[in-house]
Amino acid sequence: MNSIVDLIGDTPLIKLSKSVEPLDGSYYAKWEGANPGHSIKDRIALYIIEKAEKMGLLKPGSTIVETTSGNTGFSLAMIAIKKGYRCVLAVNSKASEDKINMLRAMNALVWVCPAKVSAGDPNSYYNVAKHLTKKFKDAIYINQYFNDLNVEAHYKTTGPEIWNQTAGKITHLIASSGTGGTISGVGKYLKEKNPNIKVIGVDAYGSVLKKYHETGEIDPNEIYYYRIEGMGKNLIPSATKFQYIDKYIKVDDENSAYKSRLISSSEGIFVGYTSGGVLQAAYQLDLDDEFKPNSCVVLIFPDHGSRYITRIYSNQWMRQQGFGQKEGKIN
Ligand code: PMP
Repeated sequence: MNSIVDLIGDTPLIKLSKSVEPLDGSYYAKWEGANPGHSIKDRIALYIIEKAEKMGLLKPGSTIVETTSGNTGFSLAMIAIKKGYRCVLAVNSKASEDKINMLRAMNALVWVCPAKVSAGDPNSYYNVAKHLTKKFKDAIYINQYFNDLNVEAHYKTTGPEIWNQTAGKITHLIASSGTGGTISGVGKYLKEKNPNIKVIGVDAYGSVLKKYHETGEIDPNEIYYYRIEGMGKNLIPSATKFQYIDKYIKVDDENSAYKSRLISSSEGIFVGYTSGGVLQAAYQLDLDDEFKPNSCVVLIFPDHGSRYITRIYSNQWMRQQGFGQKEGKIN
């Protein structure tokens, strides 16, 4: 490889065993933690940056702006180093010090914005990002929730990889939905290959996506605090293409946390929080008899567990959340 960037994509599909023993069918994990930036967001970061280069929007020394302390920020920062761009991230003051340090280690300029202001406030991270995009010369704003290139990246890479790796045998795709880029891009590709493939989105309790998909209504009563990061949303991202999604399943924080731990400890794949959410959705779907013995189910595991060692992999954190107290699950 000429650089770390060349390692993005072409991730493995791994057969699951112990963690899916009670379920009907065969289960495969698309292991996105194997990307060099440890998440699926490497794909969209590279795709959007390379599109901008082709369009002449990025030149050496240009600036890339985004509003995230999470996986996308890390991926953009990593790629910006190799390609000679400045990466500026406007992040919410709720972001942990560890996350901010991680981004700074990757050379990003991190702008910490107050969490307790409305989206319309000039100090909100949305408005700071817009301002920074104007302020820096030759800057582009990635805007992953409202950028169709996010969907296209998965249509061009993740979708075909899954189709080829299952030799077209896939019957179900289960993927968490945040920006919706993954499920929309992969879902579109798979439905074009075989419209009978079921595309199932995973949403969090506390998010509006499932109800919006079913009724077209953005219900403010559906919005409340939850812990899983990267899944669900309090608004409707234009990168979510609902026409490719058959249905949504909602999962809760506690079961998802335990399913992440189950994957790590029984498969040896050290996964993040949303991967557990996706496995939890498979368990709920199995109770509804969604799967048959010949089902071929692909679960997308978006990122690596190393980002969650002070959260779902910390017994202290789990106890503080009140998880597993009654069942005595934490030792
Ligand atoms: N899991 C994690 C850990 C994420 O960071 C994201 C991105 N928000 C997702 C799942 C969902 O992916 P997408 O944004 O493509 O819907």
